[in-house]
Amino acid sequence: MTTCSALLCTNPGTSFVMVMQTSTADYHDVYVCDEHRVLMDAGCPWDMHGRHILIGQDMAPPLKEWSARPCGGAEGFTLTLRFAGETEPVDAFLVPTEARRLAAFIYSTYGEH
Ligand SMILES: [Zn+2]
Repeated sequence: MTTCSALLCTNPGTSFVMVMQTSTADYHDVYVCDEHRVLMDAGCPWDMHGRHILIGQDMAPPLKEWSARPCGGAEGFTLTLRFAGETEPVDAFLVPTEARRLAAFIYSTYGEH
């Protein structure tokens, strides 16, 4: 019997989902159980981490809101992130190099859609 690929799930894998191997951009199939299939079909965010599916509480918390504040001193800016289910925001200071890398990643992933 093949088990579901969702992290820590021990249910039998009853159907396939197609996933992209991010390192090679090739697609392949993984097994999932009925319970996780229903969540995926309902639009619950999920991701692959190695050979496991991350879904629900195993996924990073969804970003609810963000803001950016230019720095008055050094070059860069403070990025403030608010996550669903968290009361306190998280601040990160980005130097221009990191800001450009982040922008390039976002553009290469979503910029041409
Ligand atoms: Zn499962």
